[in-house]
Amino acid sequence: MQSFTGVGVSPGRIVGSVRQMPKAVSEPPAGEKLASSTTAEDAAVTLRTAAKVVQTELKERSVGATGAGKSVLEATALMAADPMLIKGAVKLITNNGTSAERAIWESAASVAEMLHNLGGYMAERSTDVLDVRSRIVAELRGVPAPGIPASDTPFILVADDLAPADTATLNPAIVLALVTSGGGPQSHTAIIARALGLPAVVAAVGVDAITDGTEIYVDGAAGSVTVDPDADQVAAAAAWATTAATLAVFDGNGVTADGHLVPLLANVGGAKDAVKAAAANAQGVGLLRTEFCFLERDTEPSHEEQITAYRGVFDAFPGKKVVVRTLDAGADKPLPFLTDASEPNPALGVRGYRTDFTSPGVLKRQLAAIAAAAEGTEADVWVMAPMISTADEAGDFAAMCAEAGLTNPGVMVEVPSAALTAETILGKVNFASLGTNDLTQYAMAADRQLGPLAALNTPWQPAVLRLIQLTVAGSLAEGNQKPVGVCGEAAADPALAVVLVGLGVNTLSMTARALSAVGAVLNTVTLAEAQRLATIALAAPNALEARAQVRAELPVLDELGL
Ligand code: PEP
Ligand code: MG
Repeated sequence: MQSFTGVGVSPGRIVGSVRQMPKAVSEPPAGEKLASSTTAEDAAVTLRTAAKVVQTELKERSVGATGAGKSVLEATALMAADPMLIKGAVKLITNNGTSAERAIWESAASVAEMLHNLGGYMAERSTDVLDVRSRIVAELRGVPAPGIPASDTPFILVADDLAPADTATLNPAIVLALVTSGGGPQSHTAIIARALGLPAVVAAVGVDAITDGTEIYVDGAAGSVTVDPDADQVAAAAAWATTAATLAVFDGNGVTADGHLVPLLANVGGAKDAVKAAAANAQGVGLLRTEFCFLERDTEPSHEEQITAYRGVFDAFPGKKVVVRTLDAGADKPLPFLTDASEPNPALGVRGYRTDFTSPGVLKRQLAAIAAAAEGTEADVWVMAPMISTADEAGDFAAMCAEAGLTNPGVMVEVPSAALTAETILGKVNFASLGTNDLTQYAMAADRQLGPLAALNTPWQPAVLRLIQLTVAGSLAEGNQKPVGVCGEAAADPALAVVLVGLGVNTLSMTARALSAVGAVLNTVTLAEAQRLATIALAAPNALEARAQVRAELPVLDELGL
């Protein structure tokens, strides 16, 4: 039995058949000419036919799709028929003898640039043109189209890694589980998988060699992938289906066995998520990733657009806390209007709060929009800045919030310097939220997106646990007494959630899907037990031991298959 070991990032046991995500389409060489055996007329016909095939396929897929995925497919289908795109390419073939692949590549580049320069809605269509270009080139090469494969039958998606934009076309009714050869525990594949409730294993080296149609067993808690599963594994998958059904609902009350309240909040990327989170009984929103509302944008969203996006979230949580995070653009979440794609080290570059240094005004306008959206809603709106590194930044941010009329400013603690100086930082703002995804990547100097560094990139690392402990200590220092939450993926790991509570964090914010599992496990321990488990984790010599020792004390995890 062939098997692969990776990092389990979203629990669940499932058996299904593999579909590999096609590789990105490479650029045809500059200056590539038509083969001597091909006439310009024939090449033009081949190109038009390929564009037609792409258009028809996208149209057909859009019929069965819903929501954001449908709009993406419809817009891309329209682009495949764009006369300017095709005419431009045919001209290059006829006048310069350029190969069909190179011609469509160059023509699309100029159309995309022109749209980009027009700004606004048109600028956003430039990504559709580039997507269509890849699809046409794939069709000309006779290789599978890029992106998540279209299928009517369920499959387990195997890929290098997924990008945030892939979420729009990922249908969780068809994709049973995610397995990637790259990515880390805090990668977007992991975040997407947890949000969709799909079992997932990342950093499983070698899975890219599994052929399409192969039956595999995925255990998203153990982090294992097995080819041609045996009867026990098939039975384990069937048993998981029953557990998943019993874990389906959170009762809306995060509390330990002895009555210590730990509100369980949701991480959301917009109104749609917020409605789902409210239906899942989240006790509020601990992280609204505002950059997710505008991921496809080439230009800064207007005041009105922002108000609509934020109000959609506030309206889902009347009377409840909603923590809005200002735009965290950069690194793994680039926003073309704020970030510079050519930076050599984007994770250490101008991202998050730092974009206010290079694009002054955007943050101020966002705060004004948040304040306007908050007006007249019943949500209790808090606001926090990502990537704060110094107390001065925290103070400046608090002043900007006050100017906008926002009375509850806070900061993300996701840079080690912020954890180390939490006491001073919390003297400037009202609360902190630990972003354990970035805190881990920066504490360990390990890119959160890189599979080979997955073992370093876990919040179970003793160094990360100590930074969390320091942050809580800073929050409790004399004169502070400020709440500290966790909104990184650590909060969605039921065993680590218990440790976090033991370390003294006040709230846990996670994807809505994780609420029931975290709530169920939290319910089985007293605060004193959680504190004992935190001591065990802190004393462990390494991340693996910390996790193993804590899990051994929580047999409920195995009972629930978590
Ligand atoms: C984090 O870094 O833990 C976090 C919550 O922010 P993001 O994952 O959006 O960077
Ligand atoms: Mg972060």
